[in-house]
Amino acid sequence: MASLELRNLVKIYGRTHAVDGISLTVADGEFLAILGPSGCGKSTTMRMIAGLEHPTQGDILIDGEVVTPLPPRMRNVSMVFQSYALYPHMSVAENIAFPLKARRIPRSDREQKIRWAAGTIGIEHLLARRPARLSGGEKQRVALARALVRDPTLFIFDEPLSALDAQVRAMARSELRQLHDRTGITTVYVTHDQFEAMGMGDRIAIMKDGRVRQIGTPQQMYAHPADTFVASFLGTPPMNLLTQDDHIVGFRPEHVLLAGEAAASGHFHVPARIIRQEFLGAIWQIYAETELRGHTNKLLAQFTSAEVQTLHDGDAVQFMVSPEHLRYFDPGSGKKMDAPHV
Ligand code: ADP
Repeated sequence: MASLELRNLVKIYGRTHAVDGISLTVADGEFLAILGPSGCGKSTTMRMIAGLEHPTQGDILIDGEVVTPLPPRMRNVSMVFQSYALYPHMSVAENIAFPLKARRIPRSDREQKIRWAAGTIGIEHLLARRPARLSGGEKQRVALARALVRDPTLFIFDEPLSALDAQVRAMARSELRQLHDRTGITTVYVTHDQFEAMGMGDRIAIMKDGRVRQIGTPQQMYAHPADTFVASFLGTPPMNLLTQDDHIVGFRPEHVLLAGEAAASGHFHVPARIIRQEFLGAIWQIYAETELRGHTNKLLAQFTSAEVQTLHDGDAVQFMVSPEHLRYFDPGSGKKMDAPHV
């Protein structure tokens, strides 16, 4: 096990700053999720950690040692990708054994390690099968067992679950996190799926355009986004961001209240018109529009079914938000700011 540190990591391809100065530390045994839209530099960062790509600038440290010049095999980093890349002519056991053979581990030790890895992942019953006879989820587990059998000091995952269908994915997410908790192997997990990042990460780093915008626990990031990008990237649906004169006010859809007859003083009031109501099972999602100081803003609110029974499309309503749920951002930089004096 090991800690990982990235120091001002930069990767430039021609004119593209794929990674534009990333510095962060992953503690020994920590699970860090890196979340960001396609093209923000996630894979490039992972490839540099694994040693498959050399940084233009900056350093990578594993357990305090600079590993930047070291080739992949000297880093003891196991990487799992979206594609499982299993050898079709080999059984599951042979696939798992492959990294051990490459390292010339003796046969008796190999067999013991295969049993341990297969047992840890829960695929002992599949050891004799060929990959063609496995489901997507099973192939993914074999790829995991193969990564685990190397006894890595660091696990890096690059969108490992994105080839699985939605139902299997949620289970696989939980299993992967449980695997981490059992083994305690320091993990960096790249995804563009915020549910994976929030559900699995001890902390999340949100990236955009080759840079880390914010790093923190899922709860911190959700409640206190550092800028409007993080506010609208994390959360489904995203935080409402309403443009006011000299600031942007943000609040989560689940914090919108119906103002009823006794409008609470001290709350932020939003006169709105209901456009559409959507039934989503446990909640109703309300699409609305509001005119605030000359700006028309779209707005989303979420209510439990009991609250919405009085609402109809086209209704004019008063929404309100308690002050503790309001966030403020600078319209120029998008960065969070203190509550403006009104
Ligand atoms: P992500 O994993 O977040 O989708 P990538 O790290 O794959 O992003 O890519 C970041 C940026 O770097 C993109 O603009 C991509 O086109 C560019 N890029 C990645 N790899 C190469 C490469 N080998 N050559 C040139 N440009 C690349």
